[in-house]
Amino acid sequence: MKMLFAAVLLIIFAASLQSWGFFAHRTINKHPTYSLPADLAPFFIKQLYAITEKAINADKRVYINSAESTRHFIDLDRYEQLSDSLVVPWFKLNKRLRQHDILKRGIVPWQIDLTYRKLLKAFHQKNAQAIIRHAADLGHYASDAHVPLHTTSNYNGQLSGQVGIHALWETRLPERFMHSYDLYVGKPVYIDNVVEFAWNAVHESHALLDSVFDLEKKVSASMSHRMKKSYVLRNNILMLNYSDEFCERYHEALNGMVERRIRKAIHATASLWYSAWIDAGQPGLSKLAPFEINKKDSIPYQRLSRKGREE
Ligand SMILES: [Zn+2]
Repeated sequence: MKMLFAAVLLIIFAASLQSWGFFAHRTINKHPTYSLPADLAPFFIKQLYAITEKAINADKRVYINSAESTRHFIDLDRYEQLSDSLVVPWFKLNKRLRQHDILKRGIVPWQIDLTYRKLLKAFHQKNAQAIIRHAADLGHYASDAHVPLHTTSNYNGQLSGQVGIHALWETRLPERFMHSYDLYVGKPVYIDNVVEFAWNAVHESHALLDSVFDLEKKVSASMSHRMKKSYVLRNNILMLNYSDEFCERYHEALNGMVERRIRKAIHATASLWYSAWIDAGQPGLSKLAPFEINKKDSIPYQRLSRKGREE
């Protein structure tokens, strides 16, 4: 019984390490809709439920597809040097670079470009179901690229004595403070080089890492351990986690960083959807057949056998 309880706790803890957290991913996929131009917005508004629900499909796939995990991050610290030769579409990568080495360091910038191409094709074919599927995935990967902890091998503070910082930054804080964020981001922009855009996003995220780690240490040093951690109710289970008090203080110390990254992720998603539609020749979408979530598109949540890195 004790072991079963521990296993359940472990599963729920693993689930809590999802990128951005399910709530944040859904929120980020929902809001670009409100920024889209009048020709494009009605289609996405009509499909708001589907695009919001599918925001987390990419994370669910990690449990059933071993190739999925590497698409959500890039460990920039594991590159001795980052050259412009990497800022090219996946199929143009120098063949001398061993694919295995690249895959194990994560491929999120390339994945954004690959998914963009799928979305462009779906727009071109006026395939409503494919548009929603790829737009939702694109929002997911673009969002992951905006999380500082998705750009380092120390992704959960396991190398710096800060285990748990991943879920703290991208799940606890958004869940607790999202209501106070301004999520209206203005008009999307046209992106003429998607892979470069994606690389810029991960570099920007990476530049924030020092603050993410240093401020956690600073706030930790200002509190006793008993104040820092407390039993918190998550998914109806009590678990030892950062206390509410710690979350408040850390969020204040970050000085708006989480909100700024969420706003950037929403704007990036809106701009990617908009650019794919432009590149596809601005197809009219008003007469497309209504889209329904079918079995092919709904992925069961198989928590028990997560494949690859928990993130
Ligand atoms: Zn993810």
